[in-house]
Amino acid sequence: PMSLSDPVKPHRICVCVRKRPLNKKELAKKEIDVVTIPGNGALLLHEPKQKVDLTKYLENQTFHFDYSFDEDATNDLVYRFTAKPLVKTVFEGGMATCFAYGQTGSGKTHTMGGDFSGKSQNSSKGIYALAAQDVFTLLRQKRYADMDLCPYVTFFEIYNGKVFDLLNKKAKLRVLEDEKQQVNVVGLHEVPVSSVDDVIKMIERGSACRTSGQTFANASSSRSHAVLQVILRRRNFLHGKFSLVDLAGNERGTDVSNNDRHTIVETAEINRSLLALKECIRSLGQNSEHIPFRMSKLTQVLRDSFIGENSRTCMIAMISPGMSSCEYTLNTLRYANRVK
Ligand code: ADP
Ligand code: MG
Repeated sequence: PMSLSDPVKPHRICVCVRKRPLNKKELAKKEIDVVTIPGNGALLLHEPKQKVDLTKYLENQTFHFDYSFDEDATNDLVYRFTAKPLVKTVFEGGMATCFAYGQTGSGKTHTMGGDFSGKSQNSSKGIYALAAQDVFTLLRQKRYADMDLCPYVTFFEIYNGKVFDLLNKKAKLRVLEDEKQQVNVVGLHEVPVSSVDDVIKMIERGSACRTSGQTFANASSSRSHAVLQVILRRRNFLHGKFSLVDLAGNERGTDVSNNDRHTIVETAEINRSLLALKECIRSLGQNSEHIPFRMSKLTQVLRDSFIGENSRTCMIAMISPGMSSCEYTLNTLRYANRVK
């Protein structure tokens, strides 16, 4: 059991890690678990007891984060300490963003999407659905009910530097920036929602759209960033925005086995966007005037999220515990360590 005290007022930037359990396949292969979460935000990446030549990557290394979640943590628990405190930010007129970062198969989609409705057995809702529930709970509270706030949802994907609307048949959209540096995704469907079920329907629709019509459905969805936004408007003006981002897998940076031209271009784009993201979050944390949001399409469309008094960001770095993933895991931990 974890010894976590209740989350307090959210920091401007919160960085956490979540370790998933070894899966059946890994257990069958007798994968060794190289990650220990001793609590209090610490994470220990250790050499396996069994002697294997991994020393080029691993010495015992300890990292510290705001929170670290072990394999027993539920989506509910992770949500409570990460995205939940940000819902209030959005109601208070702020911009909140929650990122799931990590290699393919580390649990990003499990954490964000989960099982949307939580209806099937042994499944749990992800951050999307849990955040939607809290949004509608707050909308009904007296102090917000009088504010005339209207919720909307957008859901889009960024692949190879291009934006596709997941709520409109993957229409390719243009991103325009005006003279005031306001960024606009032209024609993005912003769907009004009036219940949690409405939001879940949109998540279902968008997720199906994300993986349909592609020969390599899963492979390609792991190479794109998916952005779900819950937007609150007050008399048509933007009040607050919550962006929940399931990032592209970060493993491609070191994967040289598949080096055809298409993959190289794709890889370069993912690397650029993840680097840009790190720089933008750092700038936010340092209250810097200069936010390098033009470095990638991802950071450009999220520009709002990196500016202003009332912007909050949470990054959840997902890690696979197995020894065969340790090089990627180390990359993920180093990246997460740098964000703050
Ligand atoms: P990613 O989106 O990062 O590629 P997924 O979320 O699809 O990874 O997870 C890969 C597999 O591992 C899925 O079958 C998922 O259900 C499972 N999984 C991931 N995280 C957990 C977890 N914390 N507990 C149980 N199963 C998990
Ligand atoms: Mg995924």
